[in-house]
Amino acid sequence: MKETLFDNISMVDLKSQYIRLKPKIDTAIADVIEQSNFIKGQALSSFEQDLANYLNVKHVIGVGNGTDALQIALMSLDLNQGDEVIVPAFTYVATAEVIGLLGLKPVMVDVDLNNFNISIHNLEKVITPKTRAIVPVHLYGQSAPMDDIIDFAKKYDLYVIEDNAQSIGGSYFSKTNQTFKTGTMGHIGCTSFFPSKNLGCFGDGGAVFTNNDSLADKMRMIANHGQSKKYIHDRIGVNSRLDSIQAAILRVKLNELDDFSLRRQKVAVIYDKELSSVEDIQIPHKEKYTNHVYHQYTMKVPELKRDRLKSYLIDFNIPSMVYYPIPLYKQKAFSSFYNGRGLINTEVLCNQVLSLPIHTEMESETQNFIISKVKDFFRNE
Ligand SMILES: *Cc1c(COP(=O)(O)O)cnc(C)c1O
Repeated sequence: MKETLFDNISMVDLKSQYIRLKPKIDTAIADVIEQSNFIKGQALSSFEQDLANYLNVKHVIGVGNGTDALQIALMSLDLNQGDEVIVPAFTYVATAEVIGLLGLKPVMVDVDLNNFNISIHNLEKVITPKTRAIVPVHLYGQSAPMDDIIDFAKKYDLYVIEDNAQSIGGSYFSKTNQTFKTGTMGHIGCTSFFPSKNLGCFGDGGAVFTNNDSLADKMRMIANHGQSKKYIHDRIGVNSRLDSIQAAILRVKLNELDDFSLRRQKVAVIYDKELSSVEDIQIPHKEKYTNHVYHQYTMKVPELKRDRLKSYLIDFNIPSMVYYPIPLYKQKAFSSFYNGRGLINTEVLCNQVLSLPIHTEMESETQNFIISKVKDFFRNE
């Protein structure tokens, strides 16, 4: 018999978090049902206002999910077919998917080997007269190098759309000594409230945020069938809304977001302390210009050992995940955008990254068990 002390370790423990917050969440849901104002109700406008205050941004617009948020943001820029948008090659598919969907061209750039985010050195190389926008992704909970990205965008007159789906609650410390919440430095920030995200609802949800009044007006219109007034449609839009019930849940959870981040950071500190001494493990690299809110705890492990470690852990019912195993340009869906030249860091990372369980409800016994099994694996290698 193998030693499986815990048979229900999960990457993220949504159930225990719900139980901890149950009285507040249940009341919030019941209130919405009582009012029966399920679409565009009071709960949504209150949440939008609360999130705007939290992020210190002028406008927040709730939408159906994080992918729609990116799509609506791009639609509001009124780009032309074939215009180019720069994205990291190492990210979740949604970021590039909406660019392709809108008839724009995703131009994939390599990422930094240590912080996993857009590598500024690769940007100048991909600029063409058709480049219109850049979509930095704040991957795994850590901000992309926004000062550099914004300087670059200003130089070439590009829009900056931040994909903040994995980093809500995180901060960026700018070279002007200001602190910004991630997602509020570019023209538009996008986020997802998918249940497992750092601020997650009980289904699908997302939001866009901006300080720009006219982009805010456009995005509000686009998300609601391009409607300016009831039954007056000024442009082609979509139907993408954040339900009142989800907004009410998110309002409760937004109050907890800083505590959520702290809980994740505590888990990360313990992993760092215990795993940094393992020769074959590179713990997540932290940049000084941002705090890390650990959507994922992603380490690097030599290529051949990564998959063996993953299956070793499965034997003890310990899940781990590879985000992301295949560079976006090698996905069939994006083959028409692939010039056949791989991006070196992206290729390396797809073979080396492994994310361990991290969430707001991690018990120390569980984490110690995970750590001991990771160490055992390398001891036996
Ligand atoms: C989750 C995620 C999205 C998409 O959000 P959905 O709500 O699932 O549509 C987009 N970008 C990144 C980086 C994500 O992690």
